Amino acid sequence: MSSTTPDLARIVSDIADEMRERPDRGEVATYIPELARVGADAFGITVIDADGTVVAAGDSETPFSIQSISKVFTLTLALGMVGDRLWRRVGREPSGSPFNSIVQLERERGIPRNPFINAGAIAVTDVILSGHQPREALGEILRFMQFLAQDPTITIDEAVAASELRTGFRNTALANYMKSFGVLDNPVDFTLGVYFHHCAISMSCRQLAMAGRFLAHSGRNPSTGHSVVSPERARRINAVMLTCGHYDGSGEFAYRVGLPGKSGVGGGILAVAPGKASIAVWSPGLDASGNSHLGRIALEALAKRLGWSIFGA
Ligand code: GLU
Repeated sequence: MSSTTPDLARIVSDIADEMRERPDRGEVATYIPELARVGADAFGITVIDADGTVVAAGDSETPFSIQSISKVFTLTLALGMVGDRLWRRVGREPSGSPFNSIVQLERERGIPRNPFINAGAIAVTDVILSGHQPREALGEILRFMQFLAQDPTITIDEAVAASELRTGFRNTALANYMKSFGVLDNPVDFTLGVYFHHCAISMSCRQLAMAGRFLAHSGRNPSTGHSVVSPERARRINAVMLTCGHYDGSGEFAYRVGLPGKSGVGGGILAVAPGKASIAVWSPGLDASGNSHLGRIALEALAKRLGWSIFGA
């Protein structure tokens, strides 16, 4: 146990117990049929502190569909490929709109507000795809996740990807709309294929918390010494996570939790306590904004009890 966080294990296990007992569990996403098969009872949490100590409770080893959490990592990859030129394709302002909204795109000439709403993430995926075959781009994304999590067993859930491919009419509309403005370079079905598959990566809380460590430690995994991005880039990715990581619930998440975080409709949230820890929680029931209901409540409790909010204890 790290000397800086002596109570961490107790706090994490208390929170998991509290979450297990709560009757309010949110609603499991059903618009991707395969996700509806997961029960709302699960709850997992993993916290990895600066020393690399792993503290976990509940269903922390169960793989779940990371969905939009993958967008943090595709953003990181795309910035690595084209640098700040990426910001010509996508903005970095909160949208105040639902994750799959199309309304702003017309007014803003096909440039999505930020890389974490669906339209923005599809534009980022298109950048990663350029110059590659879809399977190469997808392999690159998957290998990046395996490298960050130091775990070659991480895979894509093909059933989830196929389920979204069959029912992703809204995302297909977003992509076609951006294509009409010249924002996407590649064939729409190629870009969407890569997008649906990276959303369908399955990871456990432990794997996700491992993968997020570089964001908590100025771009570098402190245990392996691997530098993933510069300190400046890590700081900026965290800033976009804080302002845009929970769709139109981003303000509420900052207000209640006070940490950069990214949610996914599979019920996962990756949160970053800069200099302190990388945290992953999973509970499949969602709130009205499409963010994990108990995941957010658990992170709020954790940040409060440890005084980890970036805005002060
Ligand atoms: N693959 C999902 C979609 O595009 C991701 C949404 C999310 O996790 O918020 O609808």
